[in-house]
Amino acid sequence: MNQFDVTVIGSGPGGYVAAIRCAQLGFKTAIIEKYPTLGGTCLNVGCIPSKALLDSSEHFENAKHNFANHGIIINEPKADIKRIIERKNEVVEQTTKGINFLMDKNKITVFEGVGNFESANKINITKKDGSSEAIESKYTIIATGSKPSSLPFINIDKERIITSTEALNLKEIPKHLIVIGGGVIGLELGSVYKRLGAEVTVVEYLDRIIPGMDGSLSKELQKVLKKQGIKFMLSTAVSAVERNGDSVKVTAKDKKGQEVSVEGDYCLVSVGRRPYTDGLGLEKAGVELDERGRVKVNDHLQTNVSNIYAIGDVVKGVMLAHKAEEEGVFVAELLAGQKPHINYNLIPGVVYTWPEVAGVGKTEEQLKAEGIAYKVGNFPMRALGRSRASGDTDGLVKIIADEKTDEILGIHIIGARAADMIAEAVVAMEYRASAEDIARISHAHPTFTEAIKEAALDATGKRAIHS
Ligand SMILES: Cc1cc2nc3c(=O)[nH]c(=O)nc-3n(C[C@H](O)[C@H](O)[C@H](O)COP(=O)(O)OP(=O)(O)OC[C@H]3O[C@@H](n4cnc5c(N)ncnc54)[C@H](O)[C@@H]3O)c2cc1C
Repeated sequence: MNQFDVTVIGSGPGGYVAAIRCAQLGFKTAIIEKYPTLGGTCLNVGCIPSKALLDSSEHFENAKHNFANHGIIINEPKADIKRIIERKNEVVEQTTKGINFLMDKNKITVFEGVGNFESANKINITKKDGSSEAIESKYTIIATGSKPSSLPFINIDKERIITSTEALNLKEIPKHLIVIGGGVIGLELGSVYKRLGAEVTVVEYLDRIIPGMDGSLSKELQKVLKKQGIKFMLSTAVSAVERNGDSVKVTAKDKKGQEVSVEGDYCLVSVGRRPYTDGLGLEKAGVELDERGRVKVNDHLQTNVSNIYAIGDVVKGVMLAHKAEEEGVFVAELLAGQKPHINYNLIPGVVYTWPEVAGVGKTEEQLKAEGIAYKVGNFPMRALGRSRASGDTDGLVKIIADEKTDEILGIHIIGARAADMIAEAVVAMEYRASAEDIARISHAHPTFTEAIKEAALDATGKRAIHS
């Protein structure tokens, strides 16, 4: 029987990164993936394809609405959804093939099939043709990720009532896309189809979109998306979703308890994701789940069975690719006897709408709830020369610092290229910078990052230069 030092089950960003780091550290490593392509949700039906569609639709939006202002005159552009999806598939293919290359390069044995525990050290791999193969492993890392979740009364038919997976593969541009859930995935995919010409209505149970991010970002993003034409029904609890031929009707109760309804031709259900452990045979290995169906782990990401670890979306914490990657490296290094560390407070969150939204550290709401005294510095993007040059004047940077020590506690950005700008915030906070430190660092002119410096100046004595 094949024997390995470490076997990773699942090849998403948690799993494949864990496998590479294990191999780098000298472990004989295997990875098991049930699908023919590696890369998990992120590369196949998540981060990468959604960003490919966001980029295509943004080009279209610019061609349609912004080129003329720049003096670029073109005929009325048309969106070819077939080509847009085809290009997205090409991007996915190139990216997943890259993972195969990395597996070969690091001499990692790849098994295609469903990994299921026979015992704590023995794993069966059940292949598509029904045959199976067993391997032995000293350590196992569970990285089986997550799947879209739904509401109990919704029947996802994958045609008109769809999840993000189907929304990444539509054959036509919806006339009216109803998005249930105003979180990251719903707003990103809603933006894609809005830009391509669909009417988009977002129905959200809470009184704000992107819950979990700083409240000022929610407010600003909603304002900008509304300006772009997306409609919002907040504080609205969906009670039924019915399909009738090519149309879908969503019925809900609004804030006042009144019944409201909206009709469209597609309904995207994006109400979150659930940890995925189906078919893994955890009971045979004796691995416990927590009350929310996640694999239960301690602070070392170790399950209750000492040689089995778990990482990524299938364990507690934010469901983000870079969090999964950090955890993959963490476990590999731990197994090698090193003392790795993850600062969970500094995992940035990003929304790839336009403008982009990004935040790291504590939100103002969290600090209030924790009773921590803080001060805030703000700076509007519209006051930057760079923003005016590109025409991206929406948004702001908000820096929250400790009232007494001036240590930065959170940085929240909405604006062009916020996704890339947040890296400065993470570095600063990892080194426990004060707002004064950022205020005194030279930021290239003209760049969007000048807004971070200006917000730091505002946080430290209201001395921003350009507002
Ligand atoms: C539309 C969308 C957009 C997203 N955009 C972003 C983004 O921009 N940035 C970001 O950080 N995150 C994003 N995410 C979230 C991100 O995709 C996940 O956080 C990330 O993929 C989690 O990685 P993982 O390794 O834990 O699991 P996954 O990527 O889910 O991978 C798990 C893998 O395990 C395999 N598997 C499961 N069970 C078994 C088994 N028994 N045997 C063998 N294989 C098995 C699955 O087939 C899968 O390939 C997005 C998600 C979606 C849906």
